[in-house]
Amino acid sequence: MTFDTLGLSPKVLDAITTAGFTEPTPIQAQGIPPALEGRDVLGLAQTGSGKTAAFALPMLCKLERGRARARMPRSLIIEPTRELAAQVHEAFETLGAKHKLNVALLIGGVSFDEQDRKLSRGADVLIATPGRLLDHFERGKLLLTGVEIFVVDEADRMLDMGFIPDLERIYKLLPFTRQTLFFSATMPPEIERLTNTFLHSPVEVEVAKRSATAESITQNVMLAPRDFDQKRDALRDVLRKQSDDVNNAIIFANRKTTVGILEKSLQSHGFNAAALHGDMDQHARLRTLNSFRDGKITYLIASDVAARGLDIPDVSHVYNFDIPTHAEDYVHRIGRTGRAGRKGNSITLVQPDEFRYLKDVEKLIEKKIDWLGDEPTEEEIAEASAKRGRGRGRGGDKSRGRKPSSGKRTEKSADSKRSEKAAAPASEKRDAPKKSRGDRKSRRPADQVEAMPDVGKITDSGHIPAFLQR
Ligand code: AMP
Repeated sequence: MTFDTLGLSPKVLDAITTAGFTEPTPIQAQGIPPALEGRDVLGLAQTGSGKTAAFALPMLCKLERGRARARMPRSLIIEPTRELAAQVHEAFETLGAKHKLNVALLIGGVSFDEQDRKLSRGADVLIATPGRLLDHFERGKLLLTGVEIFVVDEADRMLDMGFIPDLERIYKLLPFTRQTLFFSATMPPEIERLTNTFLHSPVEVEVAKRSATAESITQNVMLAPRDFDQKRDALRDVLRKQSDDVNNAIIFANRKTTVGILEKSLQSHGFNAAALHGDMDQHARLRTLNSFRDGKITYLIASDVAARGLDIPDVSHVYNFDIPTHAEDYVHRIGRTGRAGRKGNSITLVQPDEFRYLKDVEKLIEKKIDWLGDEPTEEEIAEASAKRGRGRGRGGDKSRGRKPSSGKRTEKSADSKRSEKAAAPASEKRDAPKKSRGDRKSRRPADQVEAMPDVGKITDSGHIPAFLQR
């Protein structure tokens, strides 16, 4: 199939050729024609499926007619994170290069003034995170009653980040007659409820869920010590052993506290590493990402939220410093290597009390992952799991947010105790709060959620005490 048959305008077809796309992806082939007809579309698709172009291309066609009025955008795209919003902005710059449309990006971490100027000029396309959009609205700088096309992207991620109340509020500010294009990778009940409110007899397009990992990726797991310091040693060991093969790598951790600690730790041991976390302002994040893309940074340390949806081509290795507690996150993480049939590698550190997460992953990907080094026996796994049930908090993994026990921990050095203490209290939280917070009062824009400091001065000042630099 080619793009010619989808009903797109000559200008848009031109842009597609310039972008180098030759064949529509399934979400594009199925989603573009109904979108061009003016139908609402519910797309079950995830990052990497080509969904950005699936909504951007029909939008460009429709926006070819008409002009934007000051402070009244003609279309609105809501994204859960600044990075995703910035990426969609980039996609419009590429695909809409010949359209001369005004595209405005409203995200946190950058000044209001420039954004305000863009709004006052009239935006054909407005791309925003929910918090910053509502902030502009509350300042009286924006009217949403002229929106002809409303796009909700990564709705399930918005649910995870607690943005549903914001989204519902935005929805109420839109005119009744508009087209809605709604994308989500999964359809939990809360999202289904939203789709029933937001969409009018939508055309549903579901593209194959990526629950399998590519065959071109060599996946391994290795047993990791329960002690946080020793676990970092184990990571460094494996990085050193593989350094000749690594072109560039992403190291995932479950919490942003851990991301911060790993960054300092790896840097102090001479690794060319940088972190991508919510405490960084937008410019710093983009700078880091670009340096990683350009090969100036070899190891990017990230959490799932910070890395979600980022289009980073050609990563040779993925390391999971922590095995994810949601098996689907494993698939997302691993999917960053071995793209387009290229060879990729992944290594996941698994602590003895985490075997059940490994089992979940193996069940999801329908494949057993090979062990590097000695594979624990079934009995050892059963014993570790039983121990976990009997006595949580003994020894182990304070980086995971358990309160430091007051009991005796003779095997630990004073330094490691202090490092755990520093890491533990704030690390109770993952990158973003889980559930919707329900009321307007507790609304916290995306940018503020991401800006919540976990380890206080460590990330703020860029300085890290010596005892954490292991
Ligand atoms: P997305 O799922 O929108 O994040 O897109 C993932 C990547 O696929 C982006 O780098 C796009 O530029 C690229 N892409 C989107 N559509 C196509 C296509 N039809 N052919 C080739 N690449 C595409």
